[in-house]
Amino acid sequence: MVQIVCPNCAAANRIPPERDASAAKCGRCGEALFQGRPVEVDAARLQVHRRANQGLPVLLDV
Ligand SMILES: [Zn+2]
Repeated sequence: MVQIVCPNCAAANRIPPERDASAAKCGRCGEALFQGRPVEVDAARLQVHRRANQGLPVLLDV
């Protein structure tokens, strides 16, 4: 199970291993979880991504 934070609404989405995570959409807002571009975040949103993204690295460009 991989947990991915939605770049649009910050909801944590659990993706089963048998599903293609690169094509997954958010269960709350319906946006694609991977949009092929960087996500702009503030300090609070960065903490959400760091804590809730399980199994995925977070790359930060300051
Ligand atoms: Zn969402």
